[in-house]
Amino acid sequence: MNQLNLSLPDWINSFLNEYPKIIPDPEKQMRFVLALTERNIREETGGPFGSAVFERDSGKLVSVGVNVVVRQNCSAAHAEMMALMLAQKELGHFDLGADGFPEHRLVTSGKMCAMCLGNVCWSGVSEVLSSAEPEDVEKITGFDEGPTPLDYNAQLERRGIKIVPELLRSEGRAVLQLYVDLGGQVYNARHSQESSLT
Ligand SMILES: [Zn+2]
Repeated sequence: MNQLNLSLPDWINSFLNEYPKIIPDPEKQMRFVLALTERNIREETGGPFGSAVFERDSGKLVSVGVNVVVRQNCSAAHAEMMALMLAQKELGHFDLGADGFPEHRLVTSGKMCAMCLGNVCWSGVSEVLSSAEPEDVEKITGFDEGPTPLDYNAQLERRGIKIVPELLRSEGRAVLQLYVDLGGQVYNARHSQESSLT
């Protein structure tokens, strides 16, 4: 009981083989992440969320993540957490913004929940691109985004992290809707108290 092992689904490697290792265009990066998210839905391997870390300037793909909370029995195994942890493992450093590294960008299908927003702040990424907004996630799926700050974007900018929200937002919303249409599980631990959280 002294070691953690978290892993992405088995189909990840074959998915990655269908794409180039360098994707410089931000919109194409987002389309890649949304395709990754859709694959996670259709494979029924987790919630409707996907993320990737790229080198900001070159577009080199560093890592990907999808939501694997249920299969990994880990409430922290959100897509952004998985992508950031795998990028840090790949680089061998807890700070993706450490001296000597290129700038890193997180691309994520939905704007971060309270937990993932925190990890983005500590991760060392210098830029975030997100598609669906928290209100899309909550209204379409019923997942709880947690206590995010009212000045969300400003909190990131204050820490030197640029955020570009609502990139391909309608496509991001469509992926969330697909999850609902296919009967995907919504696993909020506090779902029964939802009315008191709003
Ligand atoms: Zn999250």
